[in-house]
Amino acid sequence: MATIFSRIINGEIPCYKIAENDKFFAFLDINPVSKGHTLVVPKKEVNYIFTLGDEELGEMMVFAKKVAAAIEKAMPCKRIGVAVIGLEVPHAHIHLIPIVEEGDMDFKKEHVHLTNDEFLDIQKRIVEQF
Ligand code: AMP
Repeated sequence: MATIFSRIINGEIPCYKIAENDKFFAFLDINPVSKGHTLVVPKKEVNYIFTLGDEELGEMMVFAKKVAAAIEKAMPCKRIGVAVIGLEVPHAHIHLIPIVEEGDMDFKKEHVHLTNDEFLDIQKRIVEQF
């Protein structure tokens, strides 16, 4: 069965899309740790990021770098934190999280609750930076 991320990539499930190319796809995390929290996923369904071949892993990082640059310009932050967890969705993904301090990377803290309009506004702000 296709993963939830494959279904997002295929357009079966809606998302706030940020960017895509032939191999990778980026969209806003639906339960963000901070405003602008974005996921980068390979279109190829791979369970774990380090199962990717060296070349694909490199390409994914280069794609994530471009997405991170756009997020950094759009969202007030000091850095874009990078995390790989993968305990919830078995489809490789990189979390890109705008942060001001170390604690902003804490996935256990209260997440940000956003309305549809707020998600749309963040999506627009980031997409405009490409
Ligand atoms: P993890 O697999 O532990 O890295 O966590 C999966 C992440 O995917 C979590 O941050 C979820 O909020 C996020 N997520 C799950 N379903 C969706 C969805 N339909 N749209 C956007 N993000 C999602």
